Amino acid sequence: MSYFQVIPYIAALYNPIYKSYKISMVRIEHIGIAVKQLDEAIPLYEQLLNTPCYKTEAVQSENVNTAFFRTGESKIELLEGTAPESAISKFIDKKGEGIHHIAFEVENIHAEMKRLAALGFEILNAEPKKGADNKLVCFLHPKTTKGVLVELCQEIR
Ligand code: ZN
Repeated sequence: MSYFQVIPYIAALYNPIYKSYKISMVRIEHIGIAVKQLDEAIPLYEQLLNTPCYKTEAVQSENVNTAFFRTGESKIELLEGTAPESAISKFIDKKGEGIHHIAFEVENIHAEMKRLAALGFEILNAEPKKGADNKLVCFLHPKTTKGVLVELCQEIR
């Protein structure tokens, strides 16, 4: 970063407008990818990411099977629908395989849901629910996030 790039950056940090922001979405925890068949997608992603799938897990309440891969500080979650009424099966019928959601890790999912609801984001589940990989999760409707299904997740401790 050059001197001339640093000055506006530092100035921005002291701009009062930024003082009301606090990073509460700590990192991108994972990216969810909808696939037709895990048994075919897992070996492909093992090759792509050069890492083994470390966990598969069925989330029966959502009619999905999931598979997880570590990629640095984030993960990849592959999702396969297990019934036609599964959100993943419907997504694939409509859009084909591909990126389904982006999940942000939060420190306090209840506080974050409250913050976002107050700002007008549509939260799809009123209470956090138990998701895959030992997480409490909730989703934001894509119509309020420029077409991206956003997941908030908090590790269950
Ligand atoms: Zn997810």
